[in-house]
Amino acid sequence: MSQWNADDERAILDSIANWVAKEVRPVARRFDQADEYPHALVEQMKELGLFGATISQQYGGLGLSASTYAKIVIEVASAWMAPSGIFNSHLIMASAIERFGTEAQKAEFLPKMATGEFRGGIGLTEPNAGSDLQAIRTTARREGDDYIVDGSKTWITNSGNGHGILLLVKTNPEAEPRHKGMSLFIAEKGPGFVVSGKMKKLGYKAIDSCELSFQGYRIPAGRLVGGVEGKGFAQIAGGLELGRINVAARGCGIAQGALQLALRYAQERSAFSKPICEHQAIQLKLAQMATQVEASKLLIEQAARKYDAGERCDMEAAMAKLHGSEAGVFCASEAMRIFGGYSYSTEYEIERYYRDAMLMCIGEGTNEILQTIIAKQLVARNPA
Ligand SMILES: Cc1cc2nc3c(=O)[nH]c(=O)nc-3n(C[C@H](O)[C@H](O)[C@H](O)COP(=O)(O)OP(=O)(O)OC[C@H]3O[C@@H](n4cnc5c(N)ncnc54)[C@H](O)[C@@H]3O)c2cc1C
Repeated sequence: MSQWNADDERAILDSIANWVAKEVRPVARRFDQADEYPHALVEQMKELGLFGATISQQYGGLGLSASTYAKIVIEVASAWMAPSGIFNSHLIMASAIERFGTEAQKAEFLPKMATGEFRGGIGLTEPNAGSDLQAIRTTARREGDDYIVDGSKTWITNSGNGHGILLLVKTNPEAEPRHKGMSLFIAEKGPGFVVSGKMKKLGYKAIDSCELSFQGYRIPAGRLVGGVEGKGFAQIAGGLELGRINVAARGCGIAQGALQLALRYAQERSAFSKPICEHQAIQLKLAQMATQVEASKLLIEQAARKYDAGERCDMEAAMAKLHGSEAGVFCASEAMRIFGGYSYSTEYEIERYYRDAMLMCIGEGTNEILQTIIAKQLVARNPA
């Protein structure tokens, strides 16, 4: 439960808004275009406590609610979405350790994760399996006090500059149902944990998403999350609720940022002897964009409040993520039209929003998969 009151929340959000305006927005275009990791911003994030944003205060984190955290993410992503990824998947890892880890795992990892001394990510996706995670092939086989991991992962964000990942493996590849053979490990970099290189991406630049391979990677049994095999799939599914609220916030932030840029441009740019914001075609776009942003915020708040209350929120988080990410794509695309030809210039910011937006429809569960989750829950909660 968060210890912060409404005034504290306001003060935290003001300090983040100040940081975003002074430090993030001015460098976004340069780092994005150079596809260069923003080390200085990471140091500032450490000072702001962002790496411990949702980690409990007893472990040195800020212990923020998901609701406050989502507002922080919207603010950051409204200027530049990519840096929010540096603390987002790190915090999903931390959340899984805090919810499912042993006391020893919490005591060892959470304090150094809260300061950013240890920065992590989540290693689920493999070349052959993304949505269908139960099809992963990476295995961990017990050998004395250790496990030996073999396999590969792909698209793992933060794995280049970070210190380790939450690693989903099969400890029993023959298990039926398949999820009963899946386990999660806290995998620190070391011999056998090979980062094969940064992937080239359309957007979400500057942040490292890498291919990994594990070749006889030896990991102590004490790193098995919760100390029990066969729980990995459920543990990661629990962590993804926070992840989806976060991606919803990133999509909403992109939508809000694109709206802000378009709103300003529409008042500055004239065509046919008047500012383009006075043309009805542009007004319709601005109105729809603003409505999408506000609707996304409400869905995010609904999901976050349920998450904070410890209530089931898979459907609400999925709805928030579906709407927030689509709002990001819609608003970035509409803003491109409002900017006309200049939208295509890399001298302007808006093209970055357009490139970054689509990822939000794919990560943390594709929007197709999320719609199946929403529909299944609708039926389950409303039996005929
Ligand atoms: C930039 C970037 C960063 C990423 N970071 C991470 C990370 O840090 N950690 C990590 O583990 N992963 C990461 N991912 C991977 C991401 O989570 C996966 O790409 C995503 O889960 C989709 O999996 P896939 O790409 O294998 O697509 P597939 O699962 O192959 O899906 C292909 C298409 O089929 C559809 N589809 C599949 N199954 C169904 C179904 N049952 N019903 C309806 N439609 C279906 C999908 O919606 C999609 O449209 C990242 C990806 C990108 C691009």
